[in-house]
Amino acid sequence: MARLDILTANDRPGEYPGSYYAATATPLAPFAEATGEISCDVAVIGGGFTGLSAALHLAEAGMDVVVLEAHRVGFGASGRNGGQVHPGQRVDQDDLEKMVGAEMARRLWDVAVESVDLTIELAQRHAPEAGYVPGLIHADHRARFVAHSHAYAEKLARDYGYDKIAPLSRDEMRAKVATDAYFGGLEDTGGGHLHPLNYALGLARAATAAGARIFERSRVEWVSESEPVRLGTGKAKVTARYLLWAANGYLGHLDKRIAAKVMPINNFILATEPLGALADELIAENQAVADSKFVINYFRLSQDRRMLFGGGESYGYRFPADIAAKARAPMLEIFPQLGDARIDYAWGGTLGITMNRMPHFERIAGNILTAGGYSGHGVALATLGGKLAAEAMLGQAERFDLMAEVPTLRFPGGPAMRSPLLVLAMLWFSLRDKL
Ligand SMILES: Cc1cc2nc3c(=O)[nH]c(=O)nc-3n(C[C@H](O)[C@H](O)[C@H](O)COP(=O)(O)OP(=O)(O)OC[C@H]3O[C@@H](n4cnc5c(N)ncnc54)[C@H](O)[C@@H]3O)c2cc1C
Repeated sequence: MARLDILTANDRPGEYPGSYYAATATPLAPFAEATGEISCDVAVIGGGFTGLSAALHLAEAGMDVVVLEAHRVGFGASGRNGGQVHPGQRVDQDDLEKMVGAEMARRLWDVAVESVDLTIELAQRHAPEAGYVPGLIHADHRARFVAHSHAYAEKLARDYGYDKIAPLSRDEMRAKVATDAYFGGLEDTGGGHLHPLNYALGLARAATAAGARIFERSRVEWVSESEPVRLGTGKAKVTARYLLWAANGYLGHLDKRIAAKVMPINNFILATEPLGALADELIAENQAVADSKFVINYFRLSQDRRMLFGGGESYGYRFPADIAAKARAPMLEIFPQLGDARIDYAWGGTLGITMNRMPHFERIAGNILTAGGYSGHGVALATLGGKLAAEAMLGQAERFDLMAEVPTLRFPGGPAMRSPLLVLAMLWFSLRDKL
């Protein structure tokens, strides 16, 4: 039986999915397909935030960079996500301290703070149409979680000097997000939200203006690890001094070492019709919201006042037939007020997660790096991941190596077993959301 191919399982070759983002993006002319013999300093596989940020920073430093993207830039998770820019690592600092010790946790916090600053700066400079809006709310769906959230805000202020996060009581939460589903939480003015595809396209524009060469519809089919490294698409052979793997959740089976540590999972989003005045009743101050469920609900208003609601996961390559229904069910649990709202768009995307939810940075060979596995926290961290990979190739590997030092484990059971095991684990945790 032919193996399902993640790059084409749910999408048409060379096309964006039918998302709200694709329908409203500021168009960028397609890039050419790679053909013939190409040589460069750095080849990048994947045109998402990781690959585009690496290309931008390398090109600005005078390196000759080639990005090979199987479909279109921002085709992957980067052009389909919730657009929420989260401060911090995906793992809370108290858990990180236990995982890697206080000193390293501190350095990882600093890197994460920088990732948000970098993302906001790049978005404002290269993608003003991404419309970055500050404000992020963390909403607790259990009363017993609220005290912990509030203590965490105190900890961040006390131990990390982070003063942008404030506790919310149930009434304060209710005034900002019109639902009875949440018992309190946190408001973080250091994070925010943006139109992710416009951001990716802005990065691509900036990278090419700095001299990077981007090729679309150019799927890498083989890599030969040598110095220089050689890789091939259907129509081109590329020779490069360095290679960056930036394929993340869309890697498939092309590199088994990365695939063993970065697992693809799918997540779903819908966009309602424009809601007019109701939009401001639902989220009065236009923050992005993510809740405390294991299968996280995350939502925000679009620039044209739709509800963009993300929720629901799946664990095989193939998306469910009715994505709108999958994301609508959790939306109505939070906002029954939207029972009559028309659903104009619904789409899925594939992200890369790791065992411990920390990103996977690795030097696979002297001249080959990878960055990915941001575990749902990649808008800012992938942007920085690309920059850190660029720094490492330019001879400043300290911060790439810091991220690479965090242990990312192989998923148990090997490629054949990991999917069923993951499904079981995920189902167990998502069941706990209901308890
Ligand atoms: C539905 C959804 C919602 C999310 N919401 C948020 C959010 O609100 N906030 C947040 O911080 N993070 C969120 N994330 C995660 C975030 O989008 C990702 O972490 C981030 O975009 C990763 O960027 P990337 O460049 O590493 O990978 P991707 O953007 O997935 O890019 C990888 C690219 O590699 C290409 N590729 C793969 N194989 C090949 C090959 N052989 N040859 C050439 N090209 C190849 C693919 O076509 C793809 O374009 C979400 C993800 C999803 C799917």
